[in-house]
Order: sequence, then C-alpha cells, then structure tokens
Amino acid sequence: MEQKKVMEGIWKKDQISSEAPNWAKYRKLMTSEFPSPFRGKEDPLAKEIEKAIEMIDQLKPEKDGPAFLGEKSQLAYTYPEVKNVTIADKPQALDDVIADTVKLFEGMPNVSSPLTMANVWPQPNTASIIASILPLIYMPNIIEGEYAWNVHKAELESAGMLGDLFGWSSKNTGCVYTYGGSGCWLYGLKYALTRVLPGSRDKGIRTDAKVICSTQSHYCKENATDWTGIGMDNIVQIPTDPQTNQMDVNILEQKLKEFTSKGIPVASVVCTMGTTDASVFDPIEKVRELLDKYPNPAGFGKALLYADAVAGWSWMVFNKYDFANNPLEFSKEVLSIIKRNLEQIKGIHHADAIGVDFHKFGWAPYTSSCFVYKDSAEFESIMRRGSYAYLQEVTPYNPMYYTLEVSRSGAGSLAGWATMKYFGLEGLQAVLGGILEVRYYFQNLLNEHPEMVCVDPDNTGLISLFRVYANGVDANSQYQKEVSDPAFRAELIKNNEFTAAIGEKLFSWYLDRKQINGRYTPHMAYSTGFRTASYNGDGSDDQAVVYALKVYPMNVFVCPEDMQHIINCILAARDEVIAEMM
Ligand SMILES: *Cc1c(COP(=O)(O)O)cnc(C)c1O
Repeated sequence: MEQKKVMEGIWKKDQISSEAPNWAKYRKLMTSEFPSPFRGKEDPLAKEIEKAIEMIDQLKPEKDGPAFLGEKSQLAYTYPEVKNVTIADKPQALDDVIADTVKLFEGMPNVSSPLTMANVWPQPNTASIIASILPLIYMPNIIEGEYAWNVHKAELESAGMLGDLFGWSSKNTGCVYTYGGSGCWLYGLKYALTRVLPGSRDKGIRTDAKVICSTQSHYCKENATDWTGIGMDNIVQIPTDPQTNQMDVNILEQKLKEFTSKGIPVASVVCTMGTTDASVFDPIEKVRELLDKYPNPAGFGKALLYADAVAGWSWMVFNKYDFANNPLEFSKEVLSIIKRNLEQIKGIHHADAIGVDFHKFGWAPYTSSCFVYKDSAEFESIMRRGSYAYLQEVTPYNPMYYTLEVSRSGAGSLAGWATMKYFGLEGLQAVLGGILEVRYYFQNLLNEHPEMVCVDPDNTGLISLFRVYANGVDANSQYQKEVSDPAFRAELIKNNEFTAAIGEKLFSWYLDRKQINGRYTPHMAYSTGFRTASYNGDGSDDQAVVYALKVYPMNVFVCPEDMQHIINCILAARDEVIAEMM
C-alpha cells in the first residue's frame, strides 16, 4: 500500500490500531510511558518517579545505620571487564531499567548520613534538587531566550543577587552557569586572554602571557592553561607565607616588576579565596594595588584579577550580619571565627570575575557553578562571536554569543537560584555557622585528649585535621618536634605510617559495617601530606611531610553525639592498629 494510505490507516486521532505495522507498536508502548504532553492524573512520569524514589529510599539504612546506601558497600563489578557488553536487540521494560538504575547506587557513600565526613561533599537542599529536576523534564535550553523563556530569569537574577553579595552593581554584573569550579577557572582565563591578547581570538595565542597564582591554588589551573593552549609552563606560582598560607605579596611584587621590565604581559592573577582544605584567602586588596602599580606593557590589555572563590564565596553572606547583637546567637568562639573569615574575603569586590560553586558550600547538586563577572558590557562584547544562522533572538537575553558551551541545561542555574531563594542570607548563615559550631565542638573534644592534636588550629574552615598517638604520648609536644626538628624526621615518618594505618583501618571498618559502642563507624579520610615539615619548605624531601586524619562534617544532620562517637572510633582504630603491630 502506498505510504500515505498506511499512515492514515494506522491512527484514529492519536490511537494506534491493532493492524498497525510493528514500528508503530513501539510508538504505542512509548506513548504510554513517555511523559504526557497533557494534564491529568495518568501521567506515566509522575508515577514512575514516585516508584523510583520509593525504591531508592529502600537503600537508605535504618535509623543510625551505616554511612553507605544498601546492604553491601563493596564494589559490585570488576573494571574494565564490565565494558564487555553490547546494546540489547530488544527494548527492556521501563520498570526493569529503573530497577537496574537504582541498583547502581547500592554501596555508594550516603551523602545525607551524619557519619559521612570525608570531603567537601554537601547534601543538596530540597529546593535545589526539585529545581534541577524540572528542567530534565521540560528541557529549557539556556543557550538562548526562545527555548529558555522565563527560565532565564534564574541566571539573570543570580547575577543580580551575587553581584550585590560581592559588593558590585547588580545591574552591571553578569554570570554564566557552567560545568564546575574548574569551568569557572577556564572562563576566567579565557576572559583574561581575550582582554590581554585580543588578537588571540583569531590568530591563536602567540605570546607567553603569564598566569599567576599561589602554590596553594587549586590544581585545575593545569586544566585551564592546558586546554586554552596558553600552556602549563606559563603558570607562575607564588610561594605562600609560612604563617598565613597566603600568597606572598612581596614575591608577587618582585615577579610583576620583573615581567614589566622584560615586557612580558600578565594575563591574570588568580586569588584563591578559600582553598579547598586549608580555607586560606589570598590578600586580594593588596594584589589589586600591585596590578595597578605594574600595568602590562603597551599593546596588551589590562591583566584580569580572578577570584577563585568556589570554596569560600559563601562567607560573604555574613557581610551584613549584625555581629554586635549576634541575632543567630552563635557562640563567642565561633562568632569571632566567622568575623575573621568575613574580614579575609571581604576584599573580593576588587576582583574582575569570581567563581562560585553552589555544589560546595551552597548545599546544592552537581553541577551548579557560576562564573560571575563585574562588567557585563565588557565581558559580553569582547567575548562575542558573530551571528547564528539558525537561532533567532526572540528575547533580549541570548548568552550563546559568548558562552563556552552551546546547549546548556537549566539545571545548574535553577539549583543555584533556588538555593539563594530558599536559604536567604540568614539560612546560609545558620547552616555555615552551625557547621562551624560542630567543627569547634570537635576541636574542643580533641583538646580534652592529650594523645590527640589538631594540626591546623589556624584553619577557620569546616574541616579538622589531626593526629592521634599512643596513650601516654603528649601529642602536642611530640607533634611540634616532628614538624619542626630534623632530628625527629624518622619519628615523623613512622607516625605518618601510623596515621595512614589508622585511616585505612577506619575506611575498612566503614566498608565492613563495623560497630563501636553499638554504632556504625564514620566514612572519613586522611591526608598524605597537607603540609611539609618546617625545615622542608620547598618540599624537596618528599617524606618530610605531615599526614593527618581528616573530618569534614558537611551536613545538617551532624550533631555533637556524632562527633563524640567519631573520637571513640578513632581511638578504637588506633588501639587495633597498635595491637596488630605487636
Ligand atoms: C573544588 C575547587 C575547584 C574545582 O571545582 P569543581 O567544581 O570541582 O570543578 C577549584 N578551586 C577550588 C579552590 C576548589 O575548592
């Protein structure tokens, strides 16, 4: 039969007849399982989501259960053998696919568990989760206005809210949500290269412009310099002050002087405003002064000051906090720490652009990173590419002309935006400050144990790094000798191994559902060298470094009893390690 007749014979309105050809029978199945285009109680998607959530919730432990999902924490597959697979000939039932998907979460660390404290791994807030699920269904493409429509408000309002938070003009601030803090770094560098070496957009980079940051800056500087083609050799790392861990501005000044005198341009200075673990903020105000004092040679644009604040930005929510009256009633100890963190980040308005991760200290899902720039007119014009034949401007906001990505999901922008609306300043203050209270409670517990020592007491972030020794050892004086006296190098190394053994013991206990005093043990981590011994400043002796156990209590379910339990687990692990050494 002729194609037109077949087609008209298959359908009565949108119903498919029983004599329809086989391909159309698949359509019948799919129309019963795809999200319905129309309102009504029979939406397959809503039903299946409910089922899937119920199923995945079954993987949660009973109250006070272990810190992973499901019954078994061991990896269930062998790699790379798992790749030995092909796409099946026939479709699989929807319920089976969902069940298989849920199964992949079996054994994974449970981000919501109060015993989960291995890393910067926050539990996302409900508003942000739901806000980022909706675009998965309705497909706003925030590449341009036509397919984003009002959803674009999330990105535009984010620019306004964040611009205001950082002390800029809301109206002149712009932002793009992108794929991570490393994406923000890449955006910052691209902005810098475009400004300083304008010809590079057409001709490619032909000048070794320098990218300056501290030795403690995040390793994604390598991704950004490598992928932009400026090359990793153009990273100039400025040593940090041994007391403050901040970029040493005297050395920065020497470097800038040297580059100016040699006619070498600087593309960007990157201030890390909150390092991932040590929570250090570079002295951005001073850096701005130096950049103004040593401008790039004639023929090059002005160097860009980028603030990598992905792990520190949220301390700015305290900018308008009433410290005198302390309405959230933080303890004196924690209030002074908050004040200190705020003082250190406050100068962030000196930056030209700032990276923000909501999926770190914003309690939002991956990936909701926001690259925020102070002068939207500049950024959006110097980064602009030509016109696009198959996209039409139907709204005034069309970021496709200057973004790295082409299609962009609305999920990140909605997650970030919903997070700011849900918490408000006060909610973020309460969560951040509340975790600090938990962290300092833990530090006070450490102080009650002479065989334990906090090894980064000046760190004012949410992490604790510490070492534990045998009973009877005065941890503090032992540690001070190990970290500063070359005569104690052998003991430093021996106790590094001891620390690693305790860390490994705790990790295996976590996997093995071990209980201490009737409670499961935590998922925590240890660092194999968060700092060097003080006589090994340049790191040339790769063994004279300090190992430490690490606790990063990130979620809102953690309470004092959990922290007390952690101390008990660490002591029990230490005792077992000692017993095994005998
Ligand atoms: C985490 C982090 C990054 C990288 O961010 P992603 O979101 O993981 O891509 C960059 N800089 C700092 C300071 C970070 O803490």
